[in-house]
Parts: sequence; C-alpha cells; structure tokens
Amino acid sequence: MAGEWARYLRQQIELGGGEVIFSSAGTPGVGDAGQIASPPRWMQNAPPIPGPGIAVQSPEHALLGDELVSLSTLEQVAERIRTTHCCALCPHRTNAVPGEGNPQARLFLCGEGPGATEDAQGRPFVGQAGNLLNGILEAIEIPRESVYITNIVKCRPPQNRKPLPDEIAACIPYLHRQIEIIRPKVILALGGTAGEAILGVRKSLGELRGKVHTYNGIPLVVTYHPAALLRNPNWKKPTWDDVRIARQLLDH
Ligand code: URA
Repeated sequence: MAGEWARYLRQQIELGGGEVIFSSAGTPGVGDAGQIASPPRWMQNAPPIPGPGIAVQSPEHALLGDELVSLSTLEQVAERIRTTHCCALCPHRTNAVPGEGNPQARLFLCGEGPGATEDAQGRPFVGQAGNLLNGILEAIEIPRESVYITNIVKCRPPQNRKPLPDEIAACIPYLHRQIEIIRPKVILALGGTAGEAILGVRKSLGELRGKVHTYNGIPLVVTYHPAALLRNPNWKKPTWDDVRIARQLLDH
C-alpha cells in the first residue's frame, strides 16, 4: 500500500496537481553553490497552518495512578501493558500492542486499536493500513524509525470494531504517560476515535479536522484513519493536506 500511496501522488503530478508530490529526494536546503534551494516537494501548494481548535491539559497525575506515573521509560510502560489486563479486550489478545518507535520522537502518531496483523505481531500499523501509513510518512520525508506510533487501545477489539468507551477509559492512561515521557513536538491523531479520545471530547471527524488543537501545549492535528483511505480514496487528498499541516508544524 505504500506503493499505492506513492502511485497516487505520482498520478497527481501527472495530472498537474502540483499540490500532491512524492519525493524521496531529501529535504532541500541551501545548495552546494550557496544558492537558495526550492522548498521541499511535499510543501508545494501545501495548505497554510490553520487556526487553533480545542486546548486540553493531560489528566492530573493523581488520575493516572501513582503506579503508572512511577514508570519512567517507554519500555517500562510497554512491559506494564504486556503484563496487565485492564479491560475486557485483554484476555482475547494474542499480543498486546504497546507502541513502537523513537523515544525522542518529534512526531507522535496515534491510531485507534490494533488489527489482526498487529495482534499477531505485537507491533502497531504493520498490516495494510500500516503500509499506507509508511507511504504517507515517506511522502513527507519522515522516516518511520524517527516517529513514535501507538494506538488508543493496546489490545485488538473483536472484528476490528471501534473500542468502547469503557475500553478507552481503561487503556488511555498508558497513552497519556507515553506522550508525557516522549514530549513530542507534534501529535497526529489518525481517525476521529483517536482525536476524540486524546482531546476527551465527542465530536465528528469533520469538526476535528482543519484546526490545530493542543494537548498540554503540544499541537495536535486530526486526520482520516489510513484504513478509511483504503475504503474511500476520495479522502486521500484531504489526508495529504492534514499530514502536510502536521509536517509544517514540525518545522515551526
Ligand atoms: N489500525 C489502527 O488503528 N492501529 C493499528 O495499529 C493498525 C490498524
């Protein structure tokens, strides 16, 4: 699917839609001869950074629980997730999927919950949706190894249904702690469920997109879930715009 995303971007170029460009050329800067190089290709016709949306603070430590707050590394949090049953999803998992990536990540990505491939491997976004996500990251010239990727719930919901409110409530303290440990520069919520859960609101994806929310002062952009793009290719263009907003915020 990374190939599919790259193909889509190339098609856009061929159709004259300069706003959607795939590049593996690296980020241009000042050229060898000292000339000012052109902006990166992903930036061409990128939308401007939109105005502010919802601003939330992370829950008080008291609400996260002393035990969780005492975990100071991502590996400790992951081990706690792997060894704990916190909701009705846990007994049915093959593997918990705590998240993976760079502990110093500047970009923090959060999806909804593991699917079948993720459950089998214990890693986030390694199935079809993950391949598409890899293509998106490649298009904005961000190596997957440089980011942190996780989900709202760390165990697979049956038949990939949306996690229920009590499942989200039981699992989300892990996410709050992961964000607190990493302190990323930008958060990208993949899908409405992730956006709603992190911001602690009930709103449609339409209401959450197109604004820069803040979580503890960290800019947060909400976009379509990659799995939704597999079902509806019309959402690729708006996703590409959202992702480029998040990418610009990284350099802000
Ligand atoms: N969908 C998600 O929300 N997360 C994954 O890890 C995989 C698919």
